[in-house]
Amino acid sequence: MRYHSIAIDGPAGAGKSTLARRVAGELGFLYVDTGAIYRTVALKVLRAGADPDDPDQVIPLLQGLDIAMDYGPDGEQRMFLEGEDVSRAIRENRVSGLASRVSAIPAVRDFLLDFQRRQAREHNVVMDGRDIGTVVLPEADVKVFLTAAPEARARRRYLELLERGQQADPDAVLRDIVARDRQDESRPVAPLRRAEGAALLDTTQLDLEQSLERLLTLIKEKLEP
Ligand code: C5P
Repeated sequence: MRYHSIAIDGPAGAGKSTLARRVAGELGFLYVDTGAIYRTVALKVLRAGADPDDPDQVIPLLQGLDIAMDYGPDGEQRMFLEGEDVSRAIRENRVSGLASRVSAIPAVRDFLLDFQRRQAREHNVVMDGRDIGTVVLPEADVKVFLTAAPEARARRRYLELLERGQQADPDAVLRDIVARDRQDESRPVAPLRRAEGAALLDTTQLDLEQSLERLLTLIKEKLEP
């Protein structure tokens, strides 16, 4: 059987994970959050006290690295590092910046490539990230580039952090988002960019429900022409 795949890429805070999760629920597909996988590697680097910008310190950590993923009773994707459920720990703000730095190392991307592709070989997936349409699943049935103005993205991310009970400073969140965009867009390997054939959806002026409706319409048009 051939499985369907939907690739959703875009910068931090564009609403990818919320929308991708909802789309997956509507279509009965599996939602794969690839950012969570990079975050798990970043957490390993943090715990090991390694320099996230130094391949010579990061690459040895990949050898025999025990990362696993499953779906909990509530259907949420969970990440495990060396058997420990780190789903919450990887959401800390300091891990976001680290993930962006660690993910610029080509060996880290190579290491995770098959892990991600395997999900699409075995399931119908909605996968979100930065390079899903360009590198991981260039043959995806539907590719979407989801974006929004940095201020809108920072505001959403700030509210999300507050909701999770984490401390946040709105200006710092915006600065982090802009820095992370720059880092993700300028890295030489698998930079963040709109894939060939990807539909562009800018959600700056849209609320969540409006964004979801647009996204679903766009996806259904492609899946059922
Ligand atoms: O999506 P999220 O904010 O959780 O991703 C954390 C970081 O992981 C991103 O800033 C990006 O540098 C990296 N990432 C990536 N490729 C992906 C997903 C995430 O490089 N497919």
